Order: sequence, then C-alpha cells, then structure tokens
Amino acid sequence: MGLLTANYGYNIERQASELYNRNIFKKFQYQLQLTERLKYKETEKGKCYEVWAKTNQIYKPHRIRTYIVLADVTEGREQFSCICGKFNKDGILCSHILKIIVEEDINVIPEKYFIDRWRKKGVKMKLPLPELVPKTHEMLRFNILSRKSTILNSKGSKSEEVMQYLSEEYEKIDKNLELMLSETRTEANSTQSASRAQENAVESSSSTLRELPHLNDPTRVKQKGRPALPTRLKPRIEEIKQKIAREEKMKAKKSNQISPKGKAKKKMRKGSEENIER
Ligand SMILES: [Zn+2]
Repeated sequence: MGLLTANYGYNIERQASELYNRNIFKKFQYQLQLTERLKYKETEKGKCYEVWAKTNQIYKPHRIRTYIVLADVTEGREQFSCICGKFNKDGILCSHILKIIVEEDINVIPEKYFIDRWRKKGVKMKLPLPELVPKTHEMLRFNILSRKSTILNSKGSKSEEVMQYLSEEYEKIDKNLELMLSETRTEANSTQSASRAQENAVESSSSTLRELPHLNDPTRVKQKGRPALPTRLKPRIEEIKQKIAREEKMKAKKSNQISPKGKAKKKMRKGSEENIER
C-alpha cells in the first residue's frame, strides 16, 4: 500500500487505497475528510437522506445547501446517488454520499463506484458492469459522454495550443457524427435489399447472436472487414436490434412455409437457422 495511509481508519478508506491510483485516492480522502463537516438526516429509512454543512465551522459556505442522497443500504445491494452529481462528473463519490456510507456503518463500497479509469493497473475491472450494458438509455449515454468530454475540456484548456488542437478535433468529430447520424436515419428508411446486404455482413462475421452485445470494441468490428468509417462506428445496439427484428421476420416467414423465393433465399443458411432456434 506504500504511502497511501488510511487516515480516518474506515474500511472503505482502505478499500479505496487498494483500488485507486495515488492521485485519486487523495481526492477520495479529501471527500472523506469533508464528511466530518456534514450533518445528515434520514428522511426515508435506508432510502433517502438529507445532507448539509454544519454551521459551527470556521470556514463555512455562504449558502447552506441541502443535498438529497438516494440510497439502498441493504448489505450487498448498496446503491447511492446524490443531487450534486459529483460521481457522474468526476467519477468519485461525493462527501454527501460518503457521509451516509460512514454513518450507516457500511464496510464496503460497491465495485461499480470505483471506475476503471481511476484504478491502479493491477486492479482494473475485467468486464463492463451490468449497469453499463444497457446503453440504450439516452440519459445514461449522455452522462457517460459528459464525463469523458469534461476531462478532455479540462486538459484542452491548459494552453492556447492544446485548446486549438482540441477545438479542431471536435469539429472533425462533429462532422463524422453528422455523417453517422444521417446514415442511421437513411438506413432506417432504406429498402430491404440494402439492409439485407448489411445483414449478410453481420451474419458472416458473427457466429451467435448472443455474443453481439459484448462486442463494443471498434477494433474488433473493424477486423470483420466491414466498410467505411461511419458504419464501422455505428452503435452496436442499433445493429443488434435490426438483426433481431430481421431474424424474427425470417422465422415468421419460415414457419408460414412461404417458399424461399424472395430476397431471403440466399441468406437463409443452415447456420443462421440454428441461431434462430436458440
Ligand atoms: Zn453529493
């Protein structure tokens, strides 16, 4: 553990020192220190808390704000969120949540609150957390991206040169995004033959449908020999949805014993039939 000492003696502090890199641990520890200046009230048992700053402090905020912490303090199912939004912004828990954690005698912070980015080398998470897998929720996507772009902006504002660079890159990204989005829109309205062609590409590359949701890494997608940048970066989930829809359709056709005259003919290979049966 080296220089990272648990100043406050909490188990969660030791846990943090084992997982976090040095800088982030210091930040975590500062939030932990701040909890000493906070008061709290449980407004709904084990679920909702109000947290605010003590007023007997030499250095006190000029405006006392009350923070609402929503929680589940059931052992093994612990979950927290705070209206201050620090965790979404910085990726570490705020003093308000930590206040509840220490006051409620919680010994372990769930792994998901130690984001991969801030972890030491040897203790990275192996798989994306289940909470992060359903990426279809727009608000969640927004939060994830906000966190990333905030970090970039912060670096980017360090010097004029860096700012210029980042700004130009943003413009490029913006153009690509426009391209991708317009493609997604056209594709949604496109003829069946176009989507058939795409299906072909997907099918020839994926052995099972079940595997797809985990293929988030663009480089792996690239290896499949799929064309052009926008398609390559297209959201997996959209593809999967379309694929599922198509397979459902094919399954329905098949069970109706419609002769394989149409476009489905060439694509109805043995392998894909097995997949449909699951
Ligand atoms: Zn907070």
